Parts: sequence; C-alpha cells; structure tokens
Amino acid sequence: MDTILVRYGEIGNKGNNRGQFERLLQRQVQERLSELPSVRVERLSGRMVITLSDADGEHFSRALDRLQTLFGVSSLSTAQSTSLELEDLYRAAIQYVEWHWGADIRRFKVEVRRANKQFPLDSSALARELGAILLRHFERLSVDVHRPDAILNVEIRERRAFLYHQTLAGAGGLPVGMSGHAALLLSGGIDSPVAGWQALRRGLLIHAVHFHSQPFTSDRALDKVLRLSSRLSDYGAPHELWSISVTDIQSAIRKSCPSMLHTILLRRMMFRVATSLADRQQWLALVTGDSLGQVASQTLEALHVLDTATDLPVLRPLVTMDKLDIIRIAEQLHTYPISILPYEDCCTLFAPKSPRTRPQRHEVRAAEQHLDVDGLVAAALATVKLYRDGAECALD
Ligand code: ATP
Ligand code: MG
Repeated sequence: MDTILVRYGEIGNKGNNRGQFERLLQRQVQERLSELPSVRVERLSGRMVITLSDADGEHFSRALDRLQTLFGVSSLSTAQSTSLELEDLYRAAIQYVEWHWGADIRRFKVEVRRANKQFPLDSSALARELGAILLRHFERLSVDVHRPDAILNVEIRERRAFLYHQTLAGAGGLPVGMSGHAALLLSGGIDSPVAGWQALRRGLLIHAVHFHSQPFTSDRALDKVLRLSSRLSDYGAPHELWSISVTDIQSAIRKSCPSMLHTILLRRMMFRVATSLADRQQWLALVTGDSLGQVASQTLEALHVLDTATDLPVLRPLVTMDKLDIIRIAEQLHTYPISILPYEDCCTLFAPKSPRTRPQRHEVRAAEQHLDVDGLVAAALATVKLYRDGAECALD
C-alpha cells in the first residue's frame, strides 16, 4: 500500500463551513504527519489522499495511528494507487489480492466509483471486468454480491485509481479549532479530562486551567495534571496548562464564611478567576467535568449558583452521563490510571464535613459580602504560571 484515503465531514455539514473545515483539517493532517518522510496531502473532491512515497510498514502504521485520533476524520482506508492504464489497473488488482487477502477470503465482489468520467469503461463494466480477471487468477475465489467476505473497492480519480478493501473508523467530530477557544477547568479527577476530550471532539480548542493550593497540595499533584493535559494533546489540544494558586482565596473563605458553603464559594471564585483569564485570552466558554447529581456540589441548585459567577457559557459535556460510562471513556483515553493517583486536590483538602447540597443564591451572596472578591480574583490571576510541553514558560 502507498496511500491513505481520509474521509471527513458530518452529514449536514455543508455550505459556508465546508471550506473552513477542509482547510483546517488538511493543515492538521499535515502537522500530524510532519515527522514522517515524503508525505503528500491532497484534497480530491470530498476526501483527502495521503501519499507516503517510500513508507515502510512502520511508517504506515504510525501515520494511521496519528490520523485515527484526529477529530473531523470520519473514516480511513489504506489503499494502493495505480495509473489509469487498464493494463496497470488489472495488474494492480491481482497484486492487491495476492498481497492483502488471506486464504479466508473466498467470496468477493468488486465495487467501482468513477469520479473521472473520462475513464473509458463505466463503473459496472469495469467491476465486471475486474471480477472476471480475479476469478481467472485465483482458484479459491467466487463472486458473491450479497454476502462477500471482502469487497475490492476501486476509485477512479482524475490521474490515478485507488484500490482498497478495509475501512477503519475515524475519531468523528469536528476539527479542533473549528468551534473557537475555551478554558477547560482541569482538576486531577476522572471527569474533567473526559469533558475536555468531548469538547475537543466538538471542535473546541481547549486551554487547560488548573487551580492548586500549594504548599498544601504537592508538586506531584501538579505533575499529575500536566500528564493529563499531555494526554489531551494527543487529541489535538495544545500541550499547555495554566496553573493558578487559590491558597489565599481558600484562607480568606475559611476565615470569614460558614463552613458548609466553603466548596461552593471556592468554586465560584474559580469560575471568576477562569473568566478573567478567558477574557484576557479571548476564550469564549468554560468547560467543566460536572455531572448532575454525582457529588454534593453538583445539584441543580449548585450549578445554578455557580453559573451566576460568570457571564461566559459554561459547557458541561458530562452533565447527563453515568459515572461508569465516563470511566469507560477515561480508560480508552488512558487518563484513568493517571486520574486515580492519590495526590490530594485543593477541593478535597478544603471540603467541609457537611457541605450545603442545595445552596441558595442569597446565602452565597451574603457570605461573599465578607470577601474582597475583586481583590482576591486579581491576586489569584497574578499567580498564573503557564506550562508548555510540560515546562514552565514565559507568559506572552
Ligand atoms: P473531576 O473528576 O473532574 O475532578 P469531580 O467529580 O471530582 O470532577 P468536583 O471536584 O466537584 O467534581 O469538580 C467539578 C468540576 O470542577 C471538575 O470537573 C472541574 O471541571 C472543576 N474543578 C474542580 N476542581 C478543580 C481544580 N482544582 N482546578 C480546575 N478545575 C477544577
Ligand atoms: Mg474533583
């Protein structure tokens, strides 16, 4: 094989968005394959054709791995290209079956798509001709159009033809960046990395924001979140983490607010700080891992009180999901083993014995009268550290 055919696009995703979708995806395909030698990426009416000129098996499977996690790709096939000369095409079909079909494939059919209307044979004539040639050449094969073991697909394009018989599922969704930028509130838990992955799948470019309470939380806790952000970068997120201290906010809350409101007050402050950062960076939403009813802080009342602390849309991709389904995705993303490492999180350190599960807006507002909200937000924002590729770097 020398080619990967990449199919993309969601049903209904047509019109104005289409061009932007295709250009963005093509750039991302090129970026993903940039480490591999001699790669050419072309767009041919509704699909991408990737030619790996001198690819060995290892390069090929690396390219496939990298493309299978790329959002916006709906499916992929590895294919053999050939010229449009009939003799070449027939020879290529025989060679394809010889090399790529095992003895278990006995019943087959040929399907032809002819995008190039100049080609001398029409689709059904070419399918019949190729079928006859393969029957003559391979004794074990017989044609079965209803229940074939394999289908030899032939696509006739402007300058070349492509042969393939397998189609792999792509990651689906939209290319990352297509839907704009958002802050992902990334704790060290199981849920928020999954929420981040779901936001990425909808084309959001997410920036991970983490709140810590050093020195009460450790470097290992930060390291854990850096590793989670690194996993998300496999799916197209920038490998970055914005880490912010809420130590002073926590001590202010502890000093002057009723303990049963500590968690909700802290989370409102996190929302405010994240919103200021988002405004500065021109991100347009907050994404969280909240799931309705999962813990005391995730009642509808609590979510409502939280949302009044920001004017940005709060996106909660997991809101209706069951924990077991979330865990299943976390396992597939390989974030689960990192998330269950035991290092303490600022919320758990700070959790009151009996938190208010259905906080009311007026009591939260009354409690916040005792806090210098704007001053605390500004001070927290001054502690921002940015990590890129796992290392601290200067803020732009
Ligand atoms: P998770 O598994 O994502 O930690 P959780 O079930 O433990 O979620 P909470 O701890 O109540 O639930 O947090 C709810 C959401 O709030 C998280 O999913 C995350 O988006 C955000 N959040 C909580 N703690 C932090 C933190 N320290 N830094 C950034 N975001 C946080
Ligand atoms: Mg948590």
